[in-house]
Amino acid sequence: MNSSSTVEPMVKQNVPILFLTLFILIEATVLFVFTVDFQWSLLGLAVGMYFLRMFGITAGYHRYFSHNAFKTSRVFQFILGWIGAMSMQKGPLWWAAHHRNHHRYSDTELDIHSPKQKGFWYSHMLWFLRDDYNDYDSRLIKDYYKYPEMVWLDRFHWLPPLSYSIALYLIGGWAWLVYGYAVSTFFLGHGTWTINSLAHVIGSRRYETKDDSRNNFFLAIITMGEGWHNNHHHYAHSANQGFFWYEVDFSYYILKLLSLFGIVWDLKMPPVKVIEEGKANDRLKKEAKLNKSKNTDAKTKENWIPQGMKPDMVNASIAEG
Ligand SMILES: [Zn+2]
Ligand SMILES: [Zn+2]
Repeated sequence: MNSSSTVEPMVKQNVPILFLTLFILIEATVLFVFTVDFQWSLLGLAVGMYFLRMFGITAGYHRYFSHNAFKTSRVFQFILGWIGAMSMQKGPLWWAAHHRNHHRYSDTELDIHSPKQKGFWYSHMLWFLRDDYNDYDSRLIKDYYKYPEMVWLDRFHWLPPLSYSIALYLIGGWAWLVYGYAVSTFFLGHGTWTINSLAHVIGSRRYETKDDSRNNFFLAIITMGEGWHNNHHHYAHSANQGFFWYEVDFSYYILKLLSLFGIVWDLKMPPVKVIEEGKANDRLKKEAKLNKSKNTDAKTKENWIPQGMKPDMVNASIAEG
């Protein structure tokens, strides 16, 4: 078991036991699923609200507030922030300010959630339970801190999830609350956090970044495109993180669609130089793989001995021609 999952190291890592207990209790609400009879429509609600709020995090909190990857109106900016906040991952300014630091110090001792530095569970979710991370440096996010409504939303970040859960209960009762909130939010949280933990550990590396970021197809599916994390660490300001057609990126597809209606605009794309460098790196990797398998084949042939023959018998038959 990882040492960061024991109580003592958590105290050392400034994770207060009170916050940890509260967090576990909130997580445990997913077990209420056993109090509700299964219906496909309820599962549809959970999945739908998973992806809507994931979009709030990926397109809103991440690509927009953290990286200015596109432009939008002040109204839609607030809507993106509100949908993101419905995920219960604190406020957009808090999130983006800490995320900007993640890019600045990625996988070094100063990175707030590096699996390389502090292990899987800490990078996955324990880091945000630290009380010394409750605050953020507003200078890091002054481009959005200038909007009073954003500062308000950030301060009252608990209002969107609270009003969302009340709405669920009023519309569909206990069953809707359990599936639309408890179940959906549980998977949404862990889905998002895989980018802090797994996307710095499992997957391939196209670009030689100074951190351990990876590209991972499975993570890209569950996070609507965030799994192309090595691409993202190499060039963080683009609206798409899947740089090639086969790198599925649903957040980008939706942003592209919204741009057709003029809801968002100026979607930033990776420069040609970045794409060409990616292609060249892919080619080199392919060639290296091919050479490796050729060498392995040759070695296997060299070492191959017909059944029932001893090595000296093989040598003798070779000598006989
Ligand atoms: Zn990262
Ligand atoms: Zn980022």
